[in-house]
Order: sequence, then structure tokens, then C-alpha cells
Amino acid sequence: MSFEEQDTPNFNTVAQHGGQESDSLTHARAVPIYQTTSYEFESPDHAASLFQMQKEGYIYSRNANPTNRVLEKRLAGLEGGVDAFAVSSGQSAITIALLTLAKAGEEIVTTNALYGGTYNLFSETFSRFGVKARFVDGTDIEEVRGAINEKTKAVFTESIGNPGLQIADIKALSKAAHDHGIPLVVDATFTTPYLQKPIDYGADIVIHSVTKFIGGNGTAIGGIIIDAGSFDWGNGNFPEFTTPNRALNNQSYVELPSASPFIAKARFELGHNLGTALSPFHGWLFIQGLQSLSVRMRQHVENAQEVAEYLANHHLIAWVNYPTLEGDSQYELAKIYLPKGAGSIFTFGVIGGYESAKIFINSVKLLSHVANVGDSKTLVIHPASTTHARLSPEEKLTAGVEEEQIRLSIGLEDVEDIKADIDQALQKSVEASFVEEVNPFN
Ligand SMILES: *Cc1c(COP(=O)(O)O)cnc(C)c1O
Repeated sequence: MSFEEQDTPNFNTVAQHGGQESDSLTHARAVPIYQTTSYEFESPDHAASLFQMQKEGYIYSRNANPTNRVLEKRLAGLEGGVDAFAVSSGQSAITIALLTLAKAGEEIVTTNALYGGTYNLFSETFSRFGVKARFVDGTDIEEVRGAINEKTKAVFTESIGNPGLQIADIKALSKAAHDHGIPLVVDATFTTPYLQKPIDYGADIVIHSVTKFIGGNGTAIGGIIIDAGSFDWGNGNFPEFTTPNRALNNQSYVELPSASPFIAKARFELGHNLGTALSPFHGWLFIQGLQSLSVRMRQHVENAQEVAEYLANHHLIAWVNYPTLEGDSQYELAKIYLPKGAGSIFTFGVIGGYESAKIFINSVKLLSHVANVGDSKTLVIHPASTTHARLSPEEKLTAGVEEEQIRLSIGLEDVEDIKADIDQALQKSVEASFVEEVNPFN
């Protein structure tokens, strides 16, 4: 029996086999890298049918590539979606997904606890394109509902907010969106399908920066958009999906022989026109990453929980914020939405504010000071002066960015070594702030 014939393969089986059809020429076991820009057409009629999206097939690797197609089908399978589109970065995935829904003059409603790059994309770039992003407190569903109007085309949230670690109440957010006939888009980068499948809670579109845990080794940038396949594009709010299109043989996107009108439109329009193609070599790296995702995530979560507990009991810190620590403000939501763990990214506060935070970061030896998360190595950064530096003081406050806050992304090193490095750096940061306080002339 082949993989496709099995009724309901489980997570790890899909992670190894999903989306791959045996190459009938070579029977290669691993997914080959199709390092090609273009594909021979069988005839002019065949070419025309591909161009008009009447048939599935390959034209040019800006639109689709067989290696990346395995990644797309595999991740769609892992998320419980119907189709996916892999692109050059998480940022391009968010751009394409949301601009496939909203055009100039229209709006999106987004939670305000966001990855810094996404915040800037919405507040700086989308506004220049005429798409208004209304930022709301995602934990206040009435505020979310109140921000939706007749121009709103999507609600956007991260599965775990950055860097405040607010856990999205996806059921409530999707209900708010669906009551207004618009989809919920979830950036699930921090959780991955191993820890949570947003579609199970009502999300319509799921996005990942596959750069992070899915790639897993900090080697390549990429992103993906996955469609749950459940949203009704014919509800009257999305005429671009239901209007006949000359480029599509006078059919509309919902009439195409495609599993997902949304992915078809994203690929055919913005993917094709903006040119945010994923390199097949990078697609291949992400496939390698998916194959070990669950074992890595288990270890990430185990190490993160241990470091968080260690910090919670450490006398040289001000506070620690990790959803699965007892007493954390997100503890109850974590039990519902993240029963396998809250990932490996969390924050803590040093004693002594910004200056101590700088000394802490200067003093770490094992931890890497980089602007990334979800690597196999443990990473550290000071969000207020880097990833979230462009936010105003008020914006920082609402997004949960604080001056004494250090963000950790716990990796796969031996956890004793991670704790030891944090401990020695904390000692230095506190000694320095103590010296400053008792002797201001020093
Ligand atoms: C990194 C990240 C992005 C952006 O992804 P890139 O691959 O760096 O473009 C978006 N959202 C979240 C939550 C991220 O962590």
C-alpha cells in the first residue's frame, strides 16, 4: 500500500512522506531538488491550458516548482489544509496572503503584539499601498469586533504574540471574523503544526516563516501560506474570487479545477507578479527540517520549560514570562491551545533596566546575540532596542515590549550549559548595576 492510499496517516508519517510521489524514472527515495526555471510544454494547447489554470502543471519556477510543491503539500497535510503556496520569506507570505484579500481602500484588523517586521510591514508599507491596518488588543474580543467594518477583509493574529507571548484565542477570533464574513489569518511560526493546528480552532489561512522552527537550523529564509479550504469566497465580500476573469478562460477563481481558490489567486496574481519565489534548494532544506520537526520541537519545549523554571526561581531576575509556568497570565489559555507546550521563545526581565540588559547580552558566551528565533542554537536579543525599536513608547507598551526585557529562543544544546551561561551573565549584569547604584561616580 502506498502512502497516498493509507486512510489517515498520522503527523510523523505525513512529515516523512506527505506530498511526495515516487519519481518514476529514478525512484529516488529522498525528494529531489528540481533546479530548473522552466518546464517543457507538450503542445501549444497544453501550454494554454496551464496558463489559464485549467490544468495543474508547471510553467516557470516563479509560480511553482516540483520540489517546493512537495513542501507545500506536506505542510498543508500537517496543518489540515487543502493547499499551500511556498514563497521566499515569512514577510512575503504575510504580504501575499493579506493583499490577496484586501486592496487599496480596504482594511485589515490585526492584533498589536506582532513580530517587529510584521508590525512595520502593516504600519509603514501597507499604508503606502492604501491598505489600512487597524491595530487592536487581540486579547479583547470586543475591541477586535469593534474594529471590523464593511471595508475589513481579514483578521490577523499570531498564534503566540511577539514578544509579549499573548496566546491567541483562535476560537473567539475566528468567530468574530466569521460573524462579519471575513477570514481569520494566523501566523503560526512560533508554534508550528506540531504544537498547534490553528485550523482545528477555526483559522482559515495559516502562515509560517519556515525560516524558524520548520527549517530548524538557521540556514535559509522562506515562508508558506496554507488554506484550510473552508472559507466561503462566494459570500459576497470577495467579488474578485467570483467574477469571471479573461485570463482564466472566463472562469472565476472559485470555478477553477483547484483545491483552493485562495491559493490559486495568491499564486497566479501576487506570487507571479511580485516575484517572491522560493529557491528549490531552500524548499528542499525546509523538507529536511519538517522530517525532524516533532523530535526537535519536543526537545525545544523541554529545554525551554526547564530554563523558564530555573529563571522563575532565580534571585537575580525581575520577572519571567512563559505561558506554561504556573501563575503565568496565559497559563489557562495555554492549557487549551498548547497542550504540548508553548514553544521555546520567551522573555524575562533583568534587574536594573536597559543598562543591565546590555551587560547581560554582552556577557553571554554560549548564547548567540542574533535577530532570529527557532534555531537549533539558543538565541538572545533585547527587543526594545532592536526588533521592536521602531515602535513608539506607547506602541511598545501595548505590544508588551519593555526596557528590561530579554528575549530568549531556547535551542537544542544541553540544558545545563544554557542555564550556566545565563547564570554567569546574570551575575555580571547585577554586579554592574549594583556598582552603579552604590557609586554613581564609578
Ligand atoms: C521571522 C518571523 C516572520 C518573518 O519571517 P521571515 O522569514 O524572516 O521573512 C514573521 N512572523 C513571525 C512570527 C516571525 O517569527
